[in-house]
Amino acid sequence: MVEMAERIKKLPPYLFAEIDRLKEDVAKKGVDIIDLGVGDPDIPTPTEIIDAAKEALYDAKNHQYPSYVGMYEFREATARWYKSRFGVDINPTDEVVSLIGSKEGIAHLPLAFINPGDYALIPDPGYPVYPVSVMFVGGESYRMPLKKENNFLPDLSSIPEDVLKKTKLMFIGYPNNPTSAVAEKDFYKDVVELAKKYDFIVASDNAYSEICYDGYKPISFLEIEGAKDVGIEFHSLSKTFNMTGWRIGFAVGNREVINGLGKVKTNIDSGIFQAVQVAGIYALNNSEKLNEPIRKIFQDRKDKMTKALSRGSFEFDEPKATFYFWVKVPNGYTSAEFTKKLLEEKGIVVTPGNGFGDVGEGYFRISITNPRIEEAVERIQSAI
Ligand SMILES: *Cc1c(COP(=O)(O)O)cnc(C)c1O
Repeated sequence: MVEMAERIKKLPPYLFAEIDRLKEDVAKKGVDIIDLGVGDPDIPTPTEIIDAAKEALYDAKNHQYPSYVGMYEFREATARWYKSRFGVDINPTDEVVSLIGSKEGIAHLPLAFINPGDYALIPDPGYPVYPVSVMFVGGESYRMPLKKENNFLPDLSSIPEDVLKKTKLMFIGYPNNPTSAVAEKDFYKDVVELAKKYDFIVASDNAYSEICYDGYKPISFLEIEGAKDVGIEFHSLSKTFNMTGWRIGFAVGNREVINGLGKVKTNIDSGIFQAVQVAGIYALNNSEKLNEPIRKIFQDRKDKMTKALSRGSFEFDEPKATFYFWVKVPNGYTSAEFTKKLLEEKGIVVTPGNGFGDVGEGYFRISITNPRIEEAVERIQSAI
């Protein structure tokens, strides 16, 4: 008999896998499905980025093992981009590590810094990778509720003192998946202060900084004075340039934290395929030009979704950033009941809020990574 390790037995069911199974059943019945579930852009990677990779593919030096921290030119491009976009100084020599998608770095970080029994502060609802990576190394998660009355920011003053004393790491992520909330300097200042007081690492997940609307520009955690003393920021080319399949991201910030993450990587994986890094360098060096048309498409969808949901009877905040609408489930349903009903009766895939944590119960997440916005909302409305 093959027996799974305890850490695998402890895993919550992977949300998207279950939805996929149900989706398949519905599709078999011939239903025309509109998928507003996963946050994976439906638009191709810009051709110029593909061309940069294509040329690099033929260069034999790119066929060998890449360095785990990333090509110096790639690290330099990330540092230059952080400077021009956020005004943050990053030393490409020791304050950057390349990642095979930021999910990889997020999942590996606790291996470097959490001992069994140590605590990590995790947002709830939140990206499921945070608590799983902590559980895998024997750490404990303290879930910080993200509630509407706090603009979906954690209430730092409500975290118990005894938890803070055992805390080694805090995950935060704004612009936020799944709530689409954003964070400003005041919040990050409080985070830096708390991290200094209780001596823990802050890991800021900034995957959505370039998916923003109506002239709003998300900031970086590292813009705050002292932030680099306590933390790092994860970034990814996935959402910014429609490159989810390429697997390219990076972390920047505190050199000791970057070094710890690098130690894990050296021992268990390699760097990003160099042809992909060459494409990444091109993308970062031409960020404004390449991202603008992408942002326009999502801006248009965001406006359409806002209008369509407002015509109906839905409770939500209009997003300033991200692909997501975080919408209240109609009265009388749980998140799971309502999303199942939408899929089975209307062929609409959305994500139940409780899949991101218990505090997400009562919400569902709509992703605008599908152009069929009005049609989808009509079907959702007709389900109520
Ligand atoms: C999409 C996403 C990422 C980026 O994942 P990659 O591994 O870089 O593709 C990171 N964090 C959150 C919250 C995300 O939604």
